[in-house]
Amino acid sequence: MWFRRDLRLSDHPALKAACDSGRPVIPLVIRDQSVDDLGAAPKWRWGLGVEHLAQALEGKGSRLIFRSGQALTVLQKLIDETGAGAVYWSRLYDPQAVDRDSTIKATLKDQGVDARSYGGHLMFEPWTTETKTGGFYKVYTPFWRSVKNREVDAPLSTPGGFSAPDTWPASEDPGDWNLRAGMNRGAEVVRPYVRLGESAAQSRLGAFMASKVATYDAGRDIPAEDRTSNLSENLALGEISPHQCWHAGVRALNEGKAGAGTFLKELVWREFAYHLMHHTPRILDQNWKEDWDSFPWNTDETAQVTAWKQGRTGIQFVDAAMREMYVTGRMHNRGRMIVASYLCKHLMTHWKVGQAWFDDCLIDWDPAANAMGWQWSAGSGPDATPYFRVFNPVTQLDKFDKNRDYVSQWIAEDRRNPADAALSYFKAIPRAWNLSPDDTYPHPIVPADAGRKRALSAYENRDF
Ligand code: FAD
Repeated sequence: MWFRRDLRLSDHPALKAACDSGRPVIPLVIRDQSVDDLGAAPKWRWGLGVEHLAQALEGKGSRLIFRSGQALTVLQKLIDETGAGAVYWSRLYDPQAVDRDSTIKATLKDQGVDARSYGGHLMFEPWTTETKTGGFYKVYTPFWRSVKNREVDAPLSTPGGFSAPDTWPASEDPGDWNLRAGMNRGAEVVRPYVRLGESAAQSRLGAFMASKVATYDAGRDIPAEDRTSNLSENLALGEISPHQCWHAGVRALNEGKAGAGTFLKELVWREFAYHLMHHTPRILDQNWKEDWDSFPWNTDETAQVTAWKQGRTGIQFVDAAMREMYVTGRMHNRGRMIVASYLCKHLMTHWKVGQAWFDDCLIDWDPAANAMGWQWSAGSGPDATPYFRVFNPVTQLDKFDKNRDYVSQWIAEDRRNPADAALSYFKAIPRAWNLSPDDTYPHPIVPADAGRKRALSAYENRDF
């Protein structure tokens, strides 16, 4: 059983099939190029996740084997060592994983090994949702309409028994993989915010359904308040399945908790992102709308881009959100939309610059949701916000952070008693940034109105 981004034991079709086979099951993770290519925060978070999974498996009398190298080579070696007759895994959908897994499946099958991939990461396999004319959906609302009444598989229980091999194959020590290297001192700061593993994810889901989902509709836009599920970190690594979240949401809706309807729609945004990535993988690294290729985006690491990354733009909503990400590894959805809009529109910078920074900083990093979110914000994506709808980061603050609670939570400069979270930002960032809470808070590098005008004028003068 090869675990990748499915770090749970319950509702796990591949694992259940492996256990149901009655044969000994050897749980395995592989540190291959796809792991090495992750950004600093997602790589560290994956490392924490697999070590936690190892403990959960030990609790079941099993063991997680850690190996590194090219995935096919590692699998073939382990098959030789153990005489394994089958390899099972849960499907992933990004183009690199699809290429790798297809080659592995074909090669192992040729060698007489029963190589099988299972669903579980998504509720609806991306190729199973089609428009009336047989195409794929490019707009969310019709996608939602087409799936909302589809049956979602009921979650499977944790396998009752894990049959162990007579002798366990050798394992590497994941501590030697040093997956936290890119985090430097930030790891200590982010760690208390991490909710690791399957039971933490289930508790999160339970707490959300008990006390937050009823008012999720109104609450989900207030960044200073903890009123969303926070499950993205766990969904990204499969520590909980979307099916488990969906069925909990349906139960809440049936109990009259109205906000659950919106929660179900959000889960389907995640599905939509995967649907788009499956049908148009270029969403990951090219303008989805090709006519945007001629737009005069900045792609350089300018002083303005650095200020954006450092949460020093002088625009409070942007800076608070960027610091939230640096300290917690996550960012409120409203913040993500505001910082993305400011980078792409006010700073006229390519969405790929922002996407790359998120790739490095988010512990809930998800290839499909991140790419879709950036292209949506920039205007270059399918079903994107039109370029001329420029978020005003100042009026947005008046609307969603009236009392400036979010700003006070994350910005320390020029305050007599800065919040602990705001101060911890300075413990997380690289010393080379040379920033201190005693610095003066900057003036806006590009004020809201002037930036808007510049962005609109570039848009009006575009040659497409
Ligand atoms: P809730 O509001 O509780 O929603 C429940 C779940 O629905 C989420 O956990 C998530 O899995 C899914 N979901 C909600 N909104 C979206 C959305 N807009 N797109 C896709 N799925 C959604 N989400 C990620 O999981 N990883 C990313 O790397 C990521 N990058 C983003 C980048 C940008 C620029 C933008 C605008 C959005 C991005 N999102 C990403 C989507 C969204 O911001 C997060 O999923 C959400 O903030 C997670 O918080 P939550 O778990 O409390 O969500």
